[in-house]
Amino acid sequence: MHHSFHPPQRTLMGPGPSDVPPRVLAALAQPTIGHLDPCFIELMDAIKKQLQYVFQTDNPLTLPISAPGSAGMEACFVNLVSPGDTVIVCQNGVFGGRMKENVERCGATAVMVEDAWGKPVDVDKVAAAFSAHPQASLLAFVHAETSTGARSDAAALCALARENRALSIVDSVTGLAGIPVAVDAWGADAVYSGTQKCLSCVPGISPVTFSPRAVERILSRSHKVQSWFLDMQLVMAYWDGDSKRAYHHTAPVNAMYALHESLLMVEEEGLAAGHARHRRNHEALVAGLGAIGLEMAVAPEHRLPQLNAVCIPEGVDDASVRSTLLAEFDLEIGAGLGALAGKTWRIGLMGHSSRPRNVFTCLSALESILSRQGAISVAPGSAITAARSTYGADDQAH
Ligand SMILES: *Cc1c(COP(=O)(O)O)cnc(C)c1O
Repeated sequence: MHHSFHPPQRTLMGPGPSDVPPRVLAALAQPTIGHLDPCFIELMDAIKKQLQYVFQTDNPLTLPISAPGSAGMEACFVNLVSPGDTVIVCQNGVFGGRMKENVERCGATAVMVEDAWGKPVDVDKVAAAFSAHPQASLLAFVHAETSTGARSDAAALCALARENRALSIVDSVTGLAGIPVAVDAWGADAVYSGTQKCLSCVPGISPVTFSPRAVERILSRSHKVQSWFLDMQLVMAYWDGDSKRAYHHTAPVNAMYALHESLLMVEEEGLAAGHARHRRNHEALVAGLGAIGLEMAVAPEHRLPQLNAVCIPEGVDDASVRSTLLAEFDLEIGAGLGALAGKTWRIGLMGHSSRPRNVFTCLSALESILSRQGAISVAPGSAITAARSTYGADDQAH
């Protein structure tokens, strides 16, 4: 006989998923209705408007793809890249590599602009790539590189694409709602995100937005999009505003209730206040880590507040620290990815996980484990004391 599954209560401070607030989980548990029910269509319209707010865009083609962030990535590439195209792809971590893979699977050529892991994309190198490849029709880059914790200058990169009459594809899976994502102000053409990072919703949905220029390119394609499921012309027929909606796929109805609730929470707090909260908790974490001798892997001016890459001190066993955090503190942090495996920890302060409570829990747990292992020797409570000193009086209540 099988029995029901009961997951443990973890504190999620890895690279996603982040802690999902009880309100969002409660929304998920409401009755399922049909994916073409008039009430559900109303919800779809509301979600589109909410997504326009978080993406800071008026793009009519703004919607959640019914699949994780990787599907949002794939949706942007398969719709905007045609066989034979040249695409400039920036790589400064894991996700740029996936962009290259997408470009090549579309039958196009990827011109790579590589930067060191932990550094932002170098705008001058991208300009040089456009000069060397004037036929490039697209620029793709990662705004917030979750594998390294580095942030790139999306405004400058999107502007560069426009100057070179190319469209831009921006991965802001980790950026959205944690740092400003200003799609219209940047002039970005296709931006995709994910629900399980700074939106603190359940995993498995990917918000995307396409500019009118991107839509024009989609409508003027001469090759059919290779993916039936992600062909935006077909998806549009289901998600588009008019009354005659066509069945395309069954939307994850309950997950949409959750997305609506999490977007409502972002609206209630206000985008700018949310960004400020992410910054404050990041500063507290960095101060606390510094007090116990842990260094950050990314230079201060390029750090993502929601994804903190920390150098693992010499001689410390990466896996044993993480497994002790999970076993004793029910706390998940992320391992290093790709070139940074074994070299860094990735501490996420995303969405609902970005709270003083989580900062304190993580710091005291790390301090206790590293002290016990003999890796550090500090007065007990040093990390928390340093973190607390960075907060104003208001924050300590949370
Ligand atoms: C998490 C992430 C993705 C992939 O999202 P999934 O929901 O895991 O498919 C893509 N790009 C970046 C930068 C990410 O952090």
